Order: sequence, then C-alpha cells, then structure tokens
Amino acid sequence: MGKRKKSSRKPGAPSAARRRQPLDTAFTCLFCHHDKSVTVRIDRKEGIAQLVCRVCDQRYQSKTNHLTEAVDIYSEWIDAADAAQKDTQSHRRPVASSSRLAPVAPPSVGSDDEG
Ligand SMILES: [Zn+2]
Repeated sequence: MGKRKKSSRKPGAPSAARRRQPLDTAFTCLFCHHDKSVTVRIDRKEGIAQLVCRVCDQRYQSKTNHLTEAVDIYSEWIDAADAAQKDTQSHRRPVASSSRLAPVAPPSVGSDDEG
C-alpha cells in the first residue's frame, strides 16, 4: 500500500492576490523642500486623504473619491498652499499707484532781497 501524501489544506491561507501593494506616495515638501518627506494616505472607506510632511509636520486633509490618487492630493495641497500664500500677501496693502507722493514744492524762486 502506498502511503498517500497528506495534504492538509490550511483553512485560513492568505491569498496574496488580494493584497494590494501600497503605492509609493512620497513627495517633495513645499515648505521645507525635503525630498520625499511628504506622504499621502488615502482612506477609501472614509473618503479622506491625509497628507503630512514628516520633516516640518505640515498637514493637509482632503476628501477623496474612488478615482483620487495620492498625487492628486499632493497637487491639491500645492494649490491650497499657493492660494494661502497669495491670501496672506493680499492682506498687506500693495503700494497703490494713486497714492504717489506728489512733489509739493513751493514755487520759491531765488528772490533773496538782500539789502
Ligand atoms: Zn516639510
């Protein structure tokens, strides 16, 4: 009698096919300019993406849909940061061209009546 090889199947075998590999989602930081210091985590269940720089701790959060990729969040962040920067700058009043200092020189001609 040949001995049959017992092949015991594991019930809870991990199916590697279902495992999704996380994409490389590291970008350069706008603020500290460190390469690949910004990471984006997308929570598909919550529909929220979180961007964070591990160097300067900049944070950004945005809503996502099923098409949103990490790079979308990153570009959104750039836009938001850019807009914020412009906003701060616009708070400071730029030098208006109308408020130019007009030369208010009195028409004083050399009328030195001496003597
Ligand atoms: Zn940073």
